[in-house]
Amino acid sequence: MSTENHYIGRFAPSPSGPLHFGSLIAALGSYLQARSQQGSWLVRMEDLDPPREMPGAADDILRTLEAYGLKWDGTVMYQSQRHDAYLAQINDWLRNQEAYYCQCTRKQIKLAGGYYPGTCRELNQHATNSAVRLKVTTPVTHFYDKLHGQIEIPGPLAREDFIIHRRDGLFAYNLAVVLDDIEQGITEIVRGADLIEPTGRQISLYRLLQHPEVSYLHLPLAVTDNGSKLSKQNHAPAIDKANPKPALLQAMTFLGMNPPADLMACSLDDILKWGAQHWHVDQLPKTTAITLAF
Ligand code: GLU
Repeated sequence: MSTENHYIGRFAPSPSGPLHFGSLIAALGSYLQARSQQGSWLVRMEDLDPPREMPGAADDILRTLEAYGLKWDGTVMYQSQRHDAYLAQINDWLRNQEAYYCQCTRKQIKLAGGYYPGTCRELNQHATNSAVRLKVTTPVTHFYDKLHGQIEIPGPLAREDFIIHRRDGLFAYNLAVVLDDIEQGITEIVRGADLIEPTGRQISLYRLLQHPEVSYLHLPLAVTDNGSKLSKQNHAPAIDKANPKPALLQAMTFLGMNPPADLMACSLDDILKWGAQHWHVDQLPKTTAITLAF
């Protein structure tokens, strides 16, 4: 089979807790968008930040996806096993002076107005106790989203030299996500609207790497009545592995679909098949957040 023009999508959860309704939306939306185009759907575990992770959550997320009939293609990629690739790229950029060490503290940046003003760009700081920042030479000020259309990125944010390797030694999300999406051959990114903001930075990495850009679809986010994203911190309940159909149908409804009641009597495979057949981006609610009572 030719892989040219083959759609490859993905779901990339962080294992900070069990799968809840908010993450089911991202999983199901990315799955249906891929399957409706006979595409592949991959899963990547973003275990990049151990202090924020919950022991056992990665496996629990995978078991939950299985219980919901969301079968992924290939093997699961783990970011914890990709450190060599991240480091090699950072060192490459440091060597070419496309990145630099930075010693500035959060407090100093706040005092400078909230955006990093490039203080260490030409200072040749040493590596010890430093973060690594990328020199942003061609800021990305807008991009196209399949649901929201043209998205403008505020200038100061677009121009900021952003961190790719944190001072505490952890790799930055933007770096890992782009290197991994490239490694996995992802052609379109479907995820929650909370990730609209960093997308400009991610596009700037594609350009620096001279890699063809991908397309984007940011799904509405399920939020609590004070506007925050469902998460472990605000006690969003884990979705039920033993009884997946109600949450699956609710997730379809959340995504603007109209699943008939008699789907409840069908198998998970048939429910998901119905979903892929009836999935249209045009039906999605054109909003970045929907309040959910739970
Ligand atoms: N790991 C991120 C999260 O769980 C998602 C990253 C992405 O989809 O780009 O919020």
